[in-house]
Amino acid sequence: MNWKNELKRTLGEDKVREDYEHRLLFSKDSSDASAVVPEVVIHPESEEDVSEALRLLYRYGIPLTPRGSGTSLSGGSVPALGGAVMVFDRMNRIKEIDPDDLTAVVESGVITGDLHRAVEKEGMFYPPDPASLESCTLGGNVAENAGGPRALKYGTTKHYVLEITFYSSQGDRITVGKRTKKWVVGYDLPSLMVGSEGTLGVITEIALRLLPRPPKRYTLLLAFGDEVTASRTVSNMIRRGLLPSALEFVDHKCLEAVGEKVAPFLPKGTGSFLLVEYDGFGPEFERQLEITYDVASKNGLLDMFVAEDEVTRRKLWEARRGVLPALESLGFLIRHEDVVVPRSRIPDLVEYTSVVEKETGMRLASFGHAGDGNIHVNILYKKGQEEGVARAVEMVVQKVWELGGTSAGEHGVGILKKKFMKRELDPLAYELLKAIKGTFDPKGILNPHIMFDD
Ligand SMILES: Cc1cc2nc3c(=O)[nH]c(=O)nc-3n(C[C@H](O)[C@H](O)[C@H](O)COP(=O)(O)OP(=O)(O)OC[C@H]3O[C@@H](n4cnc5c(N)ncnc54)[C@H](O)[C@@H]3O)c2cc1C
Repeated sequence: MNWKNELKRTLGEDKVREDYEHRLLFSKDSSDASAVVPEVVIHPESEEDVSEALRLLYRYGIPLTPRGSGTSLSGGSVPALGGAVMVFDRMNRIKEIDPDDLTAVVESGVITGDLHRAVEKEGMFYPPDPASLESCTLGGNVAENAGGPRALKYGTTKHYVLEITFYSSQGDRITVGKRTKKWVVGYDLPSLMVGSEGTLGVITEIALRLLPRPPKRYTLLLAFGDEVTASRTVSNMIRRGLLPSALEFVDHKCLEAVGEKVAPFLPKGTGSFLLVEYDGFGPEFERQLEITYDVASKNGLLDMFVAEDEVTRRKLWEARRGVLPALESLGFLIRHEDVVVPRSRIPDLVEYTSVVEKETGMRLASFGHAGDGNIHVNILYKKGQEEGVARAVEMVVQKVWELGGTSAGEHGVGILKKKFMKRELDPLAYELLKAIKGTFDPKGILNPHIMFDD
């Protein structure tokens, strides 16, 4: 019997799909990495299914790509070596929400936005908020260490993971971490699993830390003539002691391309805007608003929009969250770079994107989490321009390194950024990572095509 038939017999036909149309659905993710059609798609319904499937794949040496919703922007969920894809769409239960200990326990296929709503209903709050939160899964967030606008104040997924249960490539169940606020017994294996991009184990269950929900929230949109004044405002706000829960940025190239569509209310002459959100208790807000207005005015503020109600808040957020879908609707392919520079160097990076445009003939548009210095430089292109894209990416990453930054902030290494991982890391650190991969996955079957370039 071949491995696919054995898999079907072990798990049941409805959990192992071989029909082409279905496999095609899992050949791509949200990045522009080339599609590869897997040989089978596995939909486990329990930990037993995960374990049995892994044991079998290990025996036959078949590569496996674990998958949440496929919203990866680095090619992380493309099964580049074929083999099997394991999708967690049927393991999507919120198992426990504990308001006393402020914890939640979820299966890895839970959609991030569903957890947000479930805990908010009970007066709690799960801060990590990738813009894809209505479609991505918590398993995918842990595997990528996803961030989002609230990372400036609240950190990224890794700051909320207490305990992880995963299955080794051989199909053994391993739980790491503790559901307590503190824990120092042994090496920090939960942190190792966070951001491991499916290369070390297949995550089935996660215990997460929650926070009490902040009672109030204010959202502001600050319009500026250009990115330099907008970015200077970011540094000056932080220097004045402000700590917004979100501090987002959109550049003039995005506004030229889709400004009318996402933010028709912006004043004439707007070349960049900041989306700022504060949360917390009432009395501190007025002071924060005053300081923000003062700092922004000194930097050439054109206009400030304030939202206290949910409808206006959504309208302001749409101006930021709507940028990527609007760029995509223009019919371009998009390479999503996800670089990070020290906050004060954002203007240097944004200015440099014009140099890249001139030298490569590509069109670049940037937005992102300015508070973290995490700028998503998007390269818009058409089929046949791949060489120009590669040159543009190389120029951007070289510049980022010169500015003291890193090639990947929150979208993972995947396939698309692996050539930079080796160049960015200390050579001995890179060897250590490879040794860790070898220990966890001796046959190299868990996402063997991503992260490592050799
Ligand atoms: C419009 C849009 C906006 C986005 N905004 C943000 C943002 O603001 N911040 C941010 O950080 N990211 C963002 N992303 C990127 C993406 O949504 C995140 O990386 C997200 O965490 C991926 O989740 P997923 O469920 O789609 O995982 P997938 O794309 O399916 O998988 C991602 C990686 O995780 C691995 N994986 C998935 N599930 C498991 C599991 N159970 N066990 C082991 N490995 C697993 C996969 O093998 C793959 O390597 C955005 C993407 C889009 C399309």
